[in-house]
Amino acid sequence: MTTKNRLMRRLKGTMLSRVHGMITCREFEEFVLGYLDGELPAQQAKIFDWHLRICRECREYLAAYKRTIEVGKAVLGPGHEPVPEDVPEDLIKAVLNSRK
Ligand SMILES: [Zn+2]
Repeated sequence: MTTKNRLMRRLKGTMLSRVHGMITCREFEEFVLGYLDGELPAQQAKIFDWHLRICRECREYLAAYKRTIEVGKAVLGPGHEPVPEDVPEDLIKAVLNSRK
């Protein structure tokens, strides 16, 4: 991510945090995993979707995140086995790091 993008995110985060009920890009990143697992409460999922709609950076972040999960599935290996619920977070981090 470029410095400019990072700056934009911070600016937007500051603006968004002033809107009642809105989440910042930082919070978005924290919610991502729960969102993809379908574990967010309905109200939070709605806010998450809203943020996603207005924030291009987070759309790109989510797309990259999904790609990472796909890579993780490939790493986990053969066939089309569903990823076990208890995929260690360390593994996901390792996959993330390997993409940098
Ligand atoms: Zn955002």
